[in-house]
Amino acid sequence: MIEVDPGLCIGCRSCSNVCPSQNILRTDSGEARRILWKRCREECDLCVEFCPAKALTLVPIDESVPEPELSFDLVACRICGSRYATEPMLSRIEAALPSDSRRDPEGAEWIRACPPCRRRAEAERAAEETVAARRRRRG
Ligand code: SF4
Ligand code: SF4
Repeated sequence: MIEVDPGLCIGCRSCSNVCPSQNILRTDSGEARRILWKRCREECDLCVEFCPAKALTLVPIDESVPEPELSFDLVACRICGSRYATEPMLSRIEAALPSDSRRDPEGAEWIRACPPCRRRAEAERAAEETVAARRRRRG
């Protein structure tokens, strides 16, 4: 079965994504994300391997141990306000940025926008650049 270190887990759901047996359940509802690791008897080890925070350990099964469950607050996108990620996930990404990117307020703020808002902003920026380039070519 799986043991979770609540001090390390960042609530990214990678373990749930790779579990071939749907043993790791997750729900995002409103402002919170919940993750439940069901008592696993398969020991394929994929969740342990893919956890970026090294928060999981495979341990001998013990029916007396409750199934681990964690809850995380979800952070609101700074553009649309939808809840999309946990604070530990965003902090981890920010900490991994090169120091010059961390000093760039636009670069750092980018992390605080949800993926659909980032894609929309990138598409708008690309369209603006294309229009500007065409105008320059026409003189
Ligand atoms: S050990 Fe394998 S089957 Fe069990 S929870 Fe992890 S990924 Fe799922
Ligand atoms: S992959 Fe690791 S850090 Fe991410 S939710 Fe699972 S246990 Fe937590």
